Amino acid sequence: MTNDEAMERALALAADAAADGEVPVGALVLDADGRVIGEGRNARGGQTHDDHAQPDPLAHAEVLAMRAAAARLGTWNLADCTLVVTLEPCPMCAGACLQTHVGRIVFGAWDAKLGACGSIWDIPRDPHVGHAPEVYGGVREAECARILADFFAARR
Ligand SMILES: [Zn+2]
Repeated sequence: MTNDEAMERALALAADAAADGEVPVGALVLDADGRVIGEGRNARGGQTHDDHAQPDPLAHAEVLAMRAAAARLGTWNLADCTLVVTLEPCPMCAGACLQTHVGRIVFGAWDAKLGACGSIWDIPRDPHVGHAPEVYGGVREAECARILADFFAARR
């Protein structure tokens, strides 16, 4: 799956989140052969829990996708994997990328308020970090930004 195709799928996951009233961000993890091994979308309302009722403020798309990928691979180490996400990861998710040693981060829209992969902070490339994932931003940027803008416009 190419980055472009993966982002198409991540956008569909983001749309699922929006349908649930969640901020529309979608993510997936590709293995070394480009196969999808984990998916996630924002679910702070608790939609990923079995009882569908336990709020989870940390249930960002990236965290859920990397958890699913680790479960699928049977290891926490995602060094051969690529995280694809519609929005530039926040500090928590960029930190989560360091914990998983994910090899590459591909994101869509830049986040001028909370972006931690180059916009406000640059956690993956912080000189204190031994492990530095490759980072590619701006993949299908306009579509990724639009789904967020539409969501917040509708809530106003
Ligand atoms: Zn996040």
